Amino acid sequence: MNGKDSFKKCRICGKPIGVIEWGVYRKVTVDAEAVAVVPDPEGEDFVRIDGSKIRGREAEPGTIQTEYAYRQHRKTCGVD
Ligand SMILES: [Zn+2]
Repeated sequence: MNGKDSFKKCRICGKPIGVIEWGVYRKVTVDAEAVAVVPDPEGEDFVRIDGSKIRGREAEPGTIQTEYAYRQHRKTCGVD
């Protein structure tokens, strides 16, 4: 998978995480599970597999016009 190396567990909270790398030195730690995102200018930032960002919110089941993206792990680390 381009840009996304092995899944591992967060050393702080133990949840599965992944690292998306883009550019040369840029990387972001994300939750391992992608979520379906609906674009929403008042939502939160999610990260695509290529490292670009999408602002949106998690889609309700059955919503069309979604795309899969990852939530930055620092937003969920340690949160149930
Ligand atoms: Zn964590």
